[in-house]
Amino acid sequence: AKVEKMSAEVVDSNPYSRLMALQRMGIVKDYERIRNKTVAVVGVGGVGSVAAEMLTRCGVGRLLIYDYDKVELANMNRLFFRPEHCGMTKTDAARKTLQEINPDVEVESYTMNITTLKGFEAFKSSLLGPDGKSRVDLILSCVDNYEARITINQVCLELQQNWMESGVSEDAVSGHIQTLIPGVTACFQCVPPLVVASGIDERTLKREGVCAASLPTTMGIVAGLLVQAALKYMLDFGSVSGYLGYNSLKDHFPTMEIKPSEACVNTLCRQLQREEEARRNSPEALEARA
Ligand code: ATP
Ligand code: ZN
Repeated sequence: AKVEKMSAEVVDSNPYSRLMALQRMGIVKDYERIRNKTVAVVGVGGVGSVAAEMLTRCGVGRLLIYDYDKVELANMNRLFFRPEHCGMTKTDAARKTLQEINPDVEVESYTMNITTLKGFEAFKSSLLGPDGKSRVDLILSCVDNYEARITINQVCLELQQNWMESGVSEDAVSGHIQTLIPGVTACFQCVPPLVVASGIDERTLKREGVCAASLPTTMGIVAGLLVQAALKYMLDFGSVSGYLGYNSLKDHFPTMEIKPSEACVNTLCRQLQREEEARRNSPEALEARA
């Protein structure tokens, strides 16, 4: 078979030309739409900082980044942050680096704990546009604890905001991403996801005095899976799995769809499920399907 080299003229010095090539090759219809997208990344640790960098290099319009922590030397086994960032808040250090990489991206940094009462309200209102609805296209959850995920889940149910959740196991060798659409897919409280994936109870992840393992490889892979799903979702190409797992020991990537549970402990989730059900059975929807 004849191997053809890609013609050099299509690649100029503009970093966007390689991204626009996705369009010429028929993968994405209108790549420029990425400029109008707003993504919130909650938690800019091992997964979130890398996800934010990927979105920045892809030319997303606006990034909202959230974290309460500072960069420490102990974080240097991960990608993105550098020793000179030590002592800075993760949000400020990330904002600085991301703007250097791509000044076209508007980065808003929020140094806050989203799980406190005040934090919950501040987090929710930072997402609102002038019309009182969410101004973000997608929220990426890159936090490492159960409470923060429950908070994101609640805010997303209240705003009817689609989001993607990510996680890396305590032993650092497996991870997952999950797409959550209020009323349509399981919410975070319908089914505990890590239990599904690896038999690990999420609540034990942050055990006092237990040092969880972490690998830049697994976190980088999970960040890549997460942002790939985010791009597919926002630019309508390929298909986005409800759940995608990654087991590095067996090179296994299980996928599944997770249906919402009628017995979910979250009342708002149950209400949104009923509304979705009514929409699906409305005369308009039935006609459209016929
Ligand atoms: P480790 O616990 O292994 O030292 P880490 O705390 O940096 O690492 P990561 O998994 O790398 O954890 O990243 C998760 C990120 O989410 C952290 O930067 C953490 O500060 C942030 N995060 C967790 N909970 C909250 C919260 N309630 N509000 C804001 N940010 C949060
Ligand atoms: Zn639910």
